[in-house]
Amino acid sequence: MSDLFTPCVDGRDRAKEELPEVMRRTQSDSAAPAAQGAENNCWHHLDIRDVGERLRASPEGLSAEEAQRRLAEHGPNELRRGPGRTWRHRLSDQIVNPLILVLVAAGGVTALLGHFVDAGVIFGVVIINAIVGMLQEGKAEKALESIRQMLSPSAVVLRDGARAKIAAAEVVPGDLVVLDAGDRVPADLRLIQARSLSCQEAALTGESLPANKDVAAVDADAELGDRRSLCYAGTIVATGAGRGYVVATGDATEIGRISGMVSEVEQVQTPLLRKLNRFAAYLTVGVLVLAAASFALGVLWRGFGLSEMFMAAVGIAVALIPEGLPPLVTITLALGVRRMAKRNAIVRRLPAVEALGSVTVICTDKTGTLTRNEMSVQRIAAAGREYAVSGEGYSPEGAISVASQGGGAVKVDGDDALAAALRAALLCSDASIHRDGDVWQMVGDPTEGALVAAAARGGIDVAGERDGHRRLDVIPFDSERQYMATLDAAPDGPPTIHVKGAPEVIMDRCDRSLGATGPEPIDPDAWLERVRRLSDDGLRVIAVARREAPSGGDTLAEDDVAGGLVLVALFGLLDPPREEAVAAVARCRSAGIRVKMITGDHADTAAAIARAVGIEEVGQPLRGRDLAAMNDAELRDSVGITAVFARAAPEHKIRLVQALQERGEICAMTGDGVNDAPALKRADIGVAMGIQGTEAAKEAADMVLADDNFATITAAVEEGRTIYDNIRKAITFILPVSGGQALVVLAAIVFGVTLPITPVQILWVNMVTAVTLGLALGFEPAEEDVMARPPRPRDEPLLSGFMIWRVLFVSVLMVVPSFGLFFWAQINGADLDTARTMAVNALVVAEILYLFNSRFFVAPSMPVRGFVGSSIALYSAAAILLAQAAFTYLPPLQALFNTAPLGGGAWLAITGCGVAVFLCVEVEKFVLRTWTSIR
Ligand code: ADP
Ligand code: MG
Repeated sequence: MSDLFTPCVDGRDRAKEELPEVMRRTQSDSAAPAAQGAENNCWHHLDIRDVGERLRASPEGLSAEEAQRRLAEHGPNELRRGPGRTWRHRLSDQIVNPLILVLVAAGGVTALLGHFVDAGVIFGVVIINAIVGMLQEGKAEKALESIRQMLSPSAVVLRDGARAKIAAAEVVPGDLVVLDAGDRVPADLRLIQARSLSCQEAALTGESLPANKDVAAVDADAELGDRRSLCYAGTIVATGAGRGYVVATGDATEIGRISGMVSEVEQVQTPLLRKLNRFAAYLTVGVLVLAAASFALGVLWRGFGLSEMFMAAVGIAVALIPEGLPPLVTITLALGVRRMAKRNAIVRRLPAVEALGSVTVICTDKTGTLTRNEMSVQRIAAAGREYAVSGEGYSPEGAISVASQGGGAVKVDGDDALAAALRAALLCSDASIHRDGDVWQMVGDPTEGALVAAAARGGIDVAGERDGHRRLDVIPFDSERQYMATLDAAPDGPPTIHVKGAPEVIMDRCDRSLGATGPEPIDPDAWLERVRRLSDDGLRVIAVARREAPSGGDTLAEDDVAGGLVLVALFGLLDPPREEAVAAVARCRSAGIRVKMITGDHADTAAAIARAVGIEEVGQPLRGRDLAAMNDAELRDSVGITAVFARAAPEHKIRLVQALQERGEICAMTGDGVNDAPALKRADIGVAMGIQGTEAAKEAADMVLADDNFATITAAVEEGRTIYDNIRKAITFILPVSGGQALVVLAAIVFGVTLPITPVQILWVNMVTAVTLGLALGFEPAEEDVMARPPRPRDEPLLSGFMIWRVLFVSVLMVVPSFGLFFWAQINGADLDTARTMAVNALVVAEILYLFNSRFFVAPSMPVRGFVGSSIALYSAAAILLAQAAFTYLPPLQALFNTAPLGGGAWLAITGCGVAVFLCVEVEKFVLRTWTSIR
């Protein structure tokens, strides 16, 4: 068995003289344990037959059982995963963070000075933060990992002689893989067929130009990049098509050997997060300065004791540091991305989440995205007659009738023109239809599926017709070329070329058209008029033409269809708009996002569909040709007003994106083909189709639509806005809570009064609330009006004016209950410990209630809205109240924190103060709602 995957031990020797079978065995065996992908493997150097023999593979592919056996033997075609991060790594990551390091230092110094309780509480924060952070990050990584699995690639192989689409992980050595432009090569392959095949191998060789591929054997000692007969796992097919045997899978592939392991799980890092980290660093410095200043102030001006002031300064510093923010942001991002995945939008790059919230223009494909991509032929124009086609889906049941004769079904037997039209359309299509229970299923391109179904409805025996006209060669359909051509053998006579494609492209190449009695000179105006009539009704028009093969050979070149064609017929296909798309376009409009359609279809068809889905001011579509003729400035002006771009090729997309970006737009762009990749990369949000899309498009995209649906883009925008909102809510919650705590101590120092809350008590409050309370905000659902606001400016600062105001306002507001109750209790004869216990509880209760304010920026949380719909907020509030009960009533904690038990009246007062703070914020919201445009 070991010889199976060691093709030769010394390639050059073997090339010169064929070694006797016995020797070869010995040599191979001596090379053991080299299994697949041996060190000096030279598959590139063997000829095709040899390769097939050694792999025990054939051009028909493996049998399912054999594949199963090989899978068991060689294991799945996957790269070994790195060991992942251990909990120790994660834990240390949580602590090596400037915010936390300051805390650790503060705790250390405090302990050195003998304040063990204070030090204990400070370290308590560090530990709680580390644990919560670690758990949240673990959750975040898992969420991202499961999303990554949704993107796992597939491969097309031949099994038991038939094409099968399987998971790339199930590819085994000896499999015959079928490659098409845009595919990702699933394993290392030795090519046995290649047609203008080239691969983008930058991942492997660093070469940015695609490498041409060929089946011929190359020198044994050729460099990786020169082994033209091999395609490597992980590279992308740039052009053409081909087939090749799998010679190595998983870690035995070149990419597996180079990278060894898949790199670690991507870090959760986005521009926003970087901004936040920078902000936190500045804040830390500011906090230290402030703490030092208050220390000096207290000692020098107010005459407090050194040790007391030191602890007060530590309390201020620790309280002000927003250590809860980083884990909160991480989890908010991860939860949001998971919510998006549930709505079929798979985010490939996290920064996209932020950009989504700023999108101002969505450029979308038409077919399959705005429409259902369920095509059906409605009308056929041939030989001066117009036919109507009826029938459901892709079913062959249905009828064709002559529209002008208003009635009876016609069949191909009695109508030569119809027969020619349907035959040409069928032979020039790859799709097939088959019955699956009660419904007819279609495999292949929907456009072609519709043509095949129509042929069947007209009475053509699909299988028989295809058997009788074996296909000799093909030029596949391509959005750039806009046509497809086949060379088909005829049972009697020379082969025929059949061509179908966009009418303008086909008619340009026709000098005659097929009339009732045979070919006649073409009347372009009459045909153009027919095209217009069909497109005006929103039908996709396909022209079909044919000619006798010029050379008689069995290959087809683009030159063969450059002219001299006979136009046979026009087909009008209906592809109804998706209902969700209509709603989604309307949502985009209310969200201040403009939708532009970019399609390869005819201008009139495109405009009709655009109107049907409600794209605003459709106006005159701009055609690809006109677009190409414009200079950059003209295009910039024109993209501002044009909503539909028709007959556009992928190359036009990138210019469109550029023009839009120059206008300051934040642009999302969809795409599916290889040629769309540059535009997807260039767009602020590149969106690839998950079903129709090629791997090349997915790799270039920031986001993949699992359902190819336009409505999913809108859903992603909504989630993107929600995530950003939640992060801002977290900030507007955590900062004033920290600020309020610090301000209580600071104010007492400045006014030279007894501290209403002792430093160690502040540390306690900070410990119980800092990391726990805010987490609930990461789980907030979208606010009702997220899609009723304009897009967020991309360069908006982290803290908007509104947020700064809110932070300052609430920080100050938080101080009032503590001071108020502290003095009120003392006036009423309470001792210092009781008064302080009241002050602490008043602060905590106010913070809890402010959490419910914070669930909406300016929308009211009253009377109940803020308290329902988030069980997490309620649980964390309950947990903190429990902690406060322990703090107030448990004797050991009373001893540690100098607290005293409180009576019912005290709690009533505390609750009253908290509610007052809550109401103040609600009033502030009311004022903002009424007199400003802040949302
Ligand atoms: P879109 O996907 O935006 O509708 P395409 O690039 O797929 O645009 O198609 C452009 C034009 O090419 C269509 O309007 C149609 O006339 C023609 N066309 C589409 N699919 C095929 C096909 N499989 N074979 C031949 N022509 C096609
Ligand atoms: Mg298409």
